[in-house]
Amino acid sequence: MYTKLKEEVLKYSKDAFAGKLFAGTSGNLSVFDRENKVMAITPSSVRYETMTVKDIVIVDQDGIKLEGDHKPSSEWKMHLEIFHQLDTVNAVVHTHSPYATSFAVVNKEIPTILIEMVPFLGGDLKVSKYASPGSRELGISVCKVLRNSPASLMQNHGAIAVGEDLSKAYIRAEYIEDAAKIYHHSLQIGKPRTMTEKEIKDWVESWD
Ligand code: 13P
Ligand code: ZN
Repeated sequence: MYTKLKEEVLKYSKDAFAGKLFAGTSGNLSVFDRENKVMAITPSSVRYETMTVKDIVIVDQDGIKLEGDHKPSSEWKMHLEIFHQLDTVNAVVHTHSPYATSFAVVNKEIPTILIEMVPFLGGDLKVSKYASPGSRELGISVCKVLRNSPASLMQNHGAIAVGEDLSKAYIRAEYIEDAAKIYHHSLQIGKPRTMTEKEIKDWVESWD
């Protein structure tokens, strides 16, 4: 059952690995089916190169496994906490992408230095406070930022993006890494200029 959900999770997992957002077996992603109250999530510590549809795990809204040979991602509590707290979010992409994670390690937020950060990331990229990997507290910590923004860096850990579907969450995860990479390079050659509030407002108003 839930083949479509599993196929979607698998496709984006392979894309994330090919796009270097995931390395080794790090990172995880999920989709929540609100009608059936089930989550499809990547398995824990399985290589993305060889991952198949059968490896994707289905759990219920309490984290009880319904389908899959493997354990669900060790971050299943964080994913469910997000789906429980944020009812417009149906997909989560969590990465350890290197540039974004570097800023999370030095606990430095990324100001709005790029036009794409406005539509895709909602502006500045904040750092959510450290909590133990695998804990519900980690979900509570990221929700404090994700309540007001679709993306966050995670202190000493990685990055997280959410969306109403996986394509939206995924492109945000790409833009998190892109913004972190460009900010990193900008810091090497000068003082990055942050967009002004007026520039951001004018840019947003021009979308209608
Ligand atoms: P999993 O392989 O259990 O999903 O763990 C990877 C990870 O990113 C832990 O935070
Ligand atoms: Zn992680």
